Amino acid sequence: MQKQDLNVAFKDYNPNQLMLLPPSLEEFIAPNHPGRTVNQIIERIDLTPVYLSYSDNGASSYHPKMLLKILVYGYLENCFSSRKLEKSTRENIVYMWLAGMQRPDHHTINRFRSERLRGVIGEVFAQVVLLLHEEGLLDIKEVYTDGTKIEANANRYTFVWGKAIKKSKERISAQLKELWDYAGSVASAELGTEEPDFVNPSPEKVTQTVEKINRALEGKAVDKKVKQKLDYAKKNWPAKLEEYTQKEQVLGERNSCSKTDPDSTFMRMKEDHMKNGQLKPAYNLQLSTHRQFVVNYSIHPNPNDTLTLKPHLELYQSRYGFYPSICTADAGYGSEENYSYLEGNSIKPFVKYSLFHKELSQERKRNRAYGLLENLYYDPEKDRYICPMGQSMEASGESTRKTSTGFLQHFRHYRAKNCAGCPLAASCKPGKEGKVLKVNRNLQNYKARAKTLLTSAEGIERRKQRATDVEPVFGQLKYNKGRGRYMLRGKEKVEIETGLLVIAHNLAKMTG
Ligand code: SF4
Repeated sequence: MQKQDLNVAFKDYNPNQLMLLPPSLEEFIAPNHPGRTVNQIIERIDLTPVYLSYSDNGASSYHPKMLLKILVYGYLENCFSSRKLEKSTRENIVYMWLAGMQRPDHHTINRFRSERLRGVIGEVFAQVVLLLHEEGLLDIKEVYTDGTKIEANANRYTFVWGKAIKKSKERISAQLKELWDYAGSVASAELGTEEPDFVNPSPEKVTQTVEKINRALEGKAVDKKVKQKLDYAKKNWPAKLEEYTQKEQVLGERNSCSKTDPDSTFMRMKEDHMKNGQLKPAYNLQLSTHRQFVVNYSIHPNPNDTLTLKPHLELYQSRYGFYPSICTADAGYGSEENYSYLEGNSIKPFVKYSLFHKELSQERKRNRAYGLLENLYYDPEKDRYICPMGQSMEASGESTRKTSTGFLQHFRHYRAKNCAGCPLAASCKPGKEGKVLKVNRNLQNYKARAKTLLTSAEGIERRKQRATDVEPVFGQLKYNKGRGRYMLRGKEKVEIETGLLVIAHNLAKMTG
């Protein structure tokens, strides 16, 4: 049927229509479009740290400003792949405008992300945060801190375990000692009396010891199995020990890592869809936010949050030149070391400790756990506790404990001398020599101060705000942006990926 046969009016349509004056791409972009926010903010920041990674010689490069705009806008629009970004600079008007009609290929975009932003993305991020602070959108000094585990882009089934390495090394030591003892029983004169050190033997030491045993057993009637074991030891153990040493160097303080991303550590994740408690290679991402803007981010290998607060705030200090004045965090951060660090740097700690809520709910008192410190009366004048049966618990000594970070904790001991036949023993749980309390007075004082702060009107407000400030940001990054798993491998690249993600998050939030 021809158009003239129908009585319908269509607008003129000619995809090949020419224009007298070519339009500017910018005209097609709405006034409050997020692409404009990305453009404006990146124009305002100083990219000298990125420029310094370029060489004076060679062919001209694409402008870092342009590549950064494309990447940040891509992360804002959930477009993370360099191939998709390349495609977008050819087909999507916003990317074409941001790129100034230039068309960097995916290698260029990828190289810029992995190499040029290495070590400087944190500085770029901090400049963006300072601009937002100047605009009055956030207060950089009042932070809400929390952490989440994000799965690494690594194979879940190719792992290195520190404990397994330790056991294998101990097995080699024990078997070497068995071979030595066997040789001693068959050829003690040839073997000599100087016994090698079997604890933590080096590859060279193992080679020397096996050679010595072989020499001693020459010409002797040797058990066939022992001969096989000696051949196996000579061939494999030195190489194995070399491999274990290399793996231990990669592990450092950690107990595990993935072979495909050695910087990642196996952690138990909250998101366990199979519900089988499987450990996955991951990074612990720590964020500090204010009004849901990310103010600071850091990546850690520790599965627990307790040890991450100090390095996280040290990074904050190196980025801005000062510490926050207020830090609000949950009970995972309430350790003596953290309280001491926060007070030492004049940071007001609205930081909960474990059992904070139980203390408030009086649940523990109702349950009458008689041996608990908070259920005992302390007499400061005589420096003693009075137990629920009225027995005086006098100071009986002191002890010190070093934490894994080298922090020293001091304990004062108080002892109830006679607990025999006590009707409350089942709940109080005295030892054989009576009930002993080990009191960390310093921690008790920190907790008391934290409790005063947390139960004040400001504290109650900040506790409420924490739940709606930092936690929704994790939800936004992990679920709405689909970043529950990193795309890049290695801590440096993961830091870049996170930096781009949080810059994009802040600019999206700024656009509203
Ligand atoms: S067990 Fe000992 S310390 Fe505990 S309530 Fe009884 S007497 Fe007191």
